[in-house]
Amino acid sequence: MVHFVGAGPGAPDLITQRGAALLQTADCIIYAGSLVNPVLLGLAKADCTIYNSAKMTLEDVISVMRENEKNNRITVRLHTGDPCLYGAIREQMDRLDAESIPYDDTPGVSSFCGAAAALNVEYTLPSVSQTVIITRMEGRTPVPEKEKLQSLAAHGATMVIFLSIGLVDQVQQALLQGGAYTNSTPAAVVYKATWPEERIVRCTVGDLAESVHKADITKTALIVVGDFLGTQYDRSKLYDPTFTTEYRKGSKA
Ligand code: SAH
Repeated sequence: MVHFVGAGPGAPDLITQRGAALLQTADCIIYAGSLVNPVLLGLAKADCTIYNSAKMTLEDVISVMRENEKNNRITVRLHTGDPCLYGAIREQMDRLDAESIPYDDTPGVSSFCGAAAALNVEYTLPSVSQTVIITRMEGRTPVPEKEKLQSLAAHGATMVIFLSIGLVDQVQQALLQGGAYTNSTPAAVVYKATWPEERIVRCTVGDLAESVHKADITKTALIVVGDFLGTQYDRSKLYDPTFTTEYRKGSKA
């Protein structure tokens, strides 16, 4: 059996209880070494075999899983944040299916949630944005034509940009070309959200690239953009005293 597990964004106590329990029972852990907090490996049994997948190919990973399965050993495949975002889990699952090796998936706290917590923000503010666009800048990994950053930026919605801090100059340019954000639209960069070395840079779209270069942040960061970082919004209907819901009768305005 293979368990895909989300490790959370960094702080070791942000893994789920289920994820932690699986780490404790694993005979083998294959962890995404570039981003998973190694403190989590302290949960492993003394005789657990541990692999850092940063140094492995997909074929290497599958071959370790196959060997474990043959020997009735439990594998935990530990991915950063939640495995469903940029985790490259589909290609692993498809190969496991082909070999009839059973697996399941335990979610984790994605870094985009860790970043919101670091900033104390809500991405979905009434009358500001009710949509979160999770995307990345095209780099060595191509992005479908219809999803180019510039096109997505035309919505002016809340945007969370993964895997792109090294391309921040192009990110800034694409955000402005979209036409909905302006130089003064607020933005922020969160480096290593929830880790002890977490850093926050608050800026605007207009000075995004300059701020990131000045802070010398070159990896493990998210760029968040939108007026949810501003001061204007409407209060929620749900908690409005005049609003009636299934659970509460509203008073007259
Ligand atoms: N599955 C992960 C994302 C993996 S892609 C998740 O759900 O978070 C790796 C990218 O995620 C990094 O390049 C960076 O953009 C972002 N990232 C991961 N951990 C982060 C953290 N603690 N703080 C800020 N960004 C992080």
